[in-house]
Amino acid sequence: MLERLAARCAEEPPARPLEVFAVDPYEAGAGRIWRTDQSPWFLMNTPAQEVTMFSGPADDGPHRPGAGPTLGEWWAEEDPAGAEPEGYAPRAVYGRYLTYVMARIEETLPPWLTVHRVPARVICADRAREGDGPDAGAHRLRLDRGDVLTVDRLVLATGHPLTELDAEQRAWQRFAKEHSTPARPVKYVAGGSASEMPLAEIPAGASVGILGMGLTFYDILTELTLGRGGTFTEGEEGLLYLPSGKEPRILAGSRGGVPLLTRGANQKGPEHRYRARLFTPERMAALRAGGAPLDFERTVLPWLLAEVNLVLLATRIRHAHGPEAAEEFTERGVALLDGRSDPRPRLLERLAAGHRIDARPLTGLDALARPFAGRRFGSSAEYHKVLTEWLRADRTPSGAAVPRASVPEAAGARARAASPVPHADAHRAAPATGPLARGAAPLPPGDAGQEAGRHLRRHGDADDHRPRRARDGDPAPPVQVTRGTGDPTDPTDSPPL
Ligand SMILES: Cc1cc2nc3c(=O)[nH]c(=O)nc-3n(C[C@H](O)[C@H](O)[C@H](O)COP(=O)(O)OP(=O)(O)OC[C@H]3O[C@@H](n4cnc5c(N)ncnc54)[C@H](O)[C@@H]3O)c2cc1C
Repeated sequence: MLERLAARCAEEPPARPLEVFAVDPYEAGAGRIWRTDQSPWFLMNTPAQEVTMFSGPADDGPHRPGAGPTLGEWWAEEDPAGAEPEGYAPRAVYGRYLTYVMARIEETLPPWLTVHRVPARVICADRAREGDGPDAGAHRLRLDRGDVLTVDRLVLATGHPLTELDAEQRAWQRFAKEHSTPARPVKYVAGGSASEMPLAEIPAGASVGILGMGLTFYDILTELTLGRGGTFTEGEEGLLYLPSGKEPRILAGSRGGVPLLTRGANQKGPEHRYRARLFTPERMAALRAGGAPLDFERTVLPWLLAEVNLVLLATRIRHAHGPEAAEEFTERGVALLDGRSDPRPRLLERLAAGHRIDARPLTGLDALARPFAGRRFGSSAEYHKVLTEWLRADRTPSGAAVPRASVPEAAGARARAASPVPHADAHRAAPATGPLARGAAPLPPGDAGQEAGRHLRRHGDADDHRPRRARDGDPAPPVQVTRGTGDPTDPTDSPPL
């Protein structure tokens, strides 16, 4: 907002001078989520080159509102040796970029715009009523430091809120309290930003149960492994995790029993916009025109899947036969489905089959989210084996060779540094047989082992088009910490999941 306001004010003076009060108890610019002092192991989930806070690209002039670098460009300039503009920047790096943007805005303000940083929390906001004198109609912001700020306009940009515990979380908290003893303390840590969790307090060898295996799971996992001095090295079968000995024992579970899938290496510029061909606003408006509420699964999801499959299959064709073949497939696919009421995946599959590629489309989201639904495993070891194969397949390109530069290195590795168990079955899980319990985790062979970089990436194969199953800022998983013996053969040493 501030960047755009400043850019517009620089172009054309406002009717009267403007004063902006930027109120935040955290660092101005970076704010709470992007604090610059957080662990370098917490990464963004958006490729650096796709992120910009400037509303226009940098030009020959100084960086200023309307013209400045993307995060990737800025990072490459700031840290030429370490930056990975196509990869995922640590959140602290993005915080430094935001601090830079804030500084550039302040340093280039036109004379009729003033910005005040107010390092405080607003604890109450209301509007002055008629009869409240000259302030009538103004917004009054009571600050935690005691004073009141009165302004004409108020923009709430408070981001992810800090919430109170809900009933389930309170139950976890109670559970931890009831089971905690001085010899074996149990602590419940509610979800939120991993940088705000007391992860450093978890002693080596303690048992940590993580509920949920989405983005925050990876934050916690890296912090408790690589952040504790663990490293990856090249092994016979691929990457090996070499523990430092300071790690806790990690048990992770999610409703689907699988971690978040690897991310497609599909980096784009900040200006990129995909324009839907089938799942269009016009089509949805037409479906809504009937007036009755839409059934998402029956009416909306098929078109969403059709769009995904159009891109998925066109990409496989592009990898195998080049852009022209892909373009032709896209146009024929759109023409084929456009007039239909039911865009079944089989139709695109048949069309793609003539191109000598893997023409299997995505047929639904459930199979991705719950790949083991309804399946039973005889033992934890059997489940581990199946899961490992599934994770390998997730990383294996289904189309043409993946360009070397875009091969994931440790994204798959991350998934293997813990021993995930399906949530519902967690109480039956045998002592961990996973990599941490063994001390070193063999990882799949191939290019993935080439580069155990400082910055783990959140992407997968160029051909992996599976949708993300968690959104930015999804509720983070709670962490439950139990202090155990650290002995994987000790049956009493499993967390009370
Ligand atoms: C852990 C985490 C990781 C994320 N990673 C990514 C990512 O990689 N890529 C991405 O695109 N998005 C990510 N997101 C989403 C991200 O929060 C948004 O993209 C972006 O930060 C939203 O910007 P914002 O300015 O709306 O909110 P925020 O950046 O959250 O800023 C809101 C600010 O408001 C302040 N505030 C709140 N209440 C008050 C109050 N009462 N008084 C004064 N100040 C207050 C807070 O202190 C905070 O600094 C992530 C979110 C979380 C929680």
